Amino acid sequence: MFKAVLATQNKNKAKEIIQILTEIEFLPRPSDFPDIEESGSTIEENAILKAVTIAEHAKIPSLADDTGLEVEELNFTPGVHSARFAGEGSSDLDNVNKVLSLMENKSNRTAMFKTVIAMAFPDGKLIVGKGEVKGSLTSQIRGTNGFGYDAIFIPQTGDGRTFGQMSSEEKNSMSHRKLALIDFKSKFEQFIKQ
Ligand code: IMP
Repeated sequence: MFKAVLATQNKNKAKEIIQILTEIEFLPRPSDFPDIEESGSTIEENAILKAVTIAEHAKIPSLADDTGLEVEELNFTPGVHSARFAGEGSSDLDNVNKVLSLMENKSNRTAMFKTVIAMAFPDGKLIVGKGEVKGSLTSQIRGTNGFGYDAIFIPQTGDGRTFGQMSSEEKNSMSHRKLALIDFKSKFEQFIKQ
């Protein structure tokens, strides 16, 4: 079976990735591997940076992901800065509260989640999958499931609930990460057939 190191240490994300990419046997990222500084200017650059760094170190392919929330009214920020939007060391709640306060009384609440999945090979080859989900922002936190910005994002493809009000199965059936994984999977399968 094709083996790759999984860069993400987030259990929920890892579960979703493993469930969809069934043709890959994932090995955990070495626990002593230092944090990789996400210095790219786009989520694509950051996903590639993480995958390449680990593939070079582990000498086998590595798969990494990066996600950002883009808010139309806020000039498509926080985007690549989603994880630290409220400052260094900020929690999910700090980031959510910052978005809510910047969006107070704004009528255009359109937002988008984007995910990039990148696999890097030790010889420099790359496979990149992308997914996005359009939706709108609530004016208050709704729901306690999920993580990150889930409790303030209503996907257009849903029934009016936020991701934070959905079960993980419901969210994963329509999420930006799921779409990026499906895009990645078809490119990976082409690559394996060559
Ligand atoms: P990362 O790509 O996991 O580093 O995530 C960047 C930022 O987006 C962090 O603040 C995460 O909490 C948030 N984020 C990532 N994926 C999701 C998601 O599926 N739902 C909500 N927030 C997310």
